[in-house]
Amino acid sequence: MIEGVPVDVGLANEGERIRKQEMRLEFGGPGVGAKWELVRVRPPEAVEHDTVRVVGPDIRDLPEGARHPLGILIDVAGPALEEDFEGIIERRIHEYTNYVEGLMHLNQRYDIWIRLSKKAFAAGFDTLEYLGRVLLSLFRSELPIIEAMQVTFFTDPAEVEARLPEALSRFEARDARARGLSDEEVDTFYGCALCQSFAPRHICVITPERYANCGAISWFDGRAAARMDPKGPIFALEKGTCIDPTNGEFEGVNASAKERSMGEIDRVWLYSAFGHPHTSCGCFEGIAFYIPEVEGFGIVHRGYRDTTVNGLAFSTMADSTAGGRQVDGFHGVSLEYLKSRKFLQADGGWDRVVWVPAEILDRIAPFLPEGVRERTANEQDAGTIEELRAFLEQHDHPVVGRWMEEVPAARPLATVGSLPLEVGGYRVILKNARIYADRVIILREEPGPTGRGP
Ligand code: SF4
Repeated sequence: MIEGVPVDVGLANEGERIRKQEMRLEFGGPGVGAKWELVRVRPPEAVEHDTVRVVGPDIRDLPEGARHPLGILIDVAGPALEEDFEGIIERRIHEYTNYVEGLMHLNQRYDIWIRLSKKAFAAGFDTLEYLGRVLLSLFRSELPIIEAMQVTFFTDPAEVEARLPEALSRFEARDARARGLSDEEVDTFYGCALCQSFAPRHICVITPERYANCGAISWFDGRAAARMDPKGPIFALEKGTCIDPTNGEFEGVNASAKERSMGEIDRVWLYSAFGHPHTSCGCFEGIAFYIPEVEGFGIVHRGYRDTTVNGLAFSTMADSTAGGRQVDGFHGVSLEYLKSRKFLQADGGWDRVVWVPAEILDRIAPFLPEGVRERTANEQDAGTIEELRAFLEQHDHPVVGRWMEEVPAARPLATVGSLPLEVGGYRVILKNARIYADRVIILREEPGPTGRGP
């Protein structure tokens, strides 16, 4: 407990899910335009220590079921603090908010989503001041390098919107600092286990050319985190001998994955969405999804609300991708990784990408190889697989060459990270199974009296 805060605060609450029907209200999330969280290192005189301010309507002023904009601004000071630490201090907001019973925090940076449960509200959690008190207390006790800290919650929609450009430009400056270094130039990668509360087998492997899935932690951030808090969730990882430079397989990464997943995952290919792909927790900014009909990848980001070209929405595919599993062809990615030379290099990189929402294509256009922008379909060019095929043929996309190639004798009908079967009272789990079949018959089951089929 933290004095004055009416609900429990602690590690045991991490991983708590708050479903829509249990929710009192939410800040940010898919239905809200502007939302962000930002940490700034400031001179001591610019920080009014131990203060929490709420600018705009508070929880108690908002109706049940509200979806409201939010900006969280945390200013910190301390003689040993460096600007390089901002990103990783900021990422701890996710962790510490999830310590609060009845609060759920998802995503990061300009994409935050916080839900408050009805139960926590009924217990008296009716002001953001309480969250501010929790953050002050946990940051000061866990990171003593922070000597002064102030927290401001902006809920006035105009303020949230007006301050978004500053947040975006600071995020871009951080990302730009991390560009230019290659994976070959370093001996150490960084691992992050922050999301294990939601995906127990997952660690992010953060390399100079493979940004963390959430898009919030670069290799430089990883290095700063491991230096600032050596016992924290972000740790140095000796990459060891390179086993396969194309797939991006390293002895040290395999060993670390095995240890941290308790033996569940023993091989990781950093630059491929097949075979032994990097796991995906649930915080990924986007999904690279395989489209077997055209032998190419589509990419969709969290903010895309429509169905994609394969008829599935981001949220549907996120369920198949998340959970810390290795799922062939459903691959969690950060938007920064799309700009990397190593992006899906083992699978063909951008020569294999066929469909991306226009918003993302525009955003990353300066980083794309020549000609990619024009030959990659967006939602206006293709809304169905048939339209996509026609577009790719018209634009002489490199995947078209693959269509002429001989089809392998047997290709998997389905691949799944783990498939539970109930057989004679036993539960059998097939892990990383590839399923082959001569015929598939799909029958519709009419619901029986229990609602679960006859
Ligand atoms: S997505 Fe990866 S890097 Fe980001 S917080 Fe989760 S585990 Fe860490």
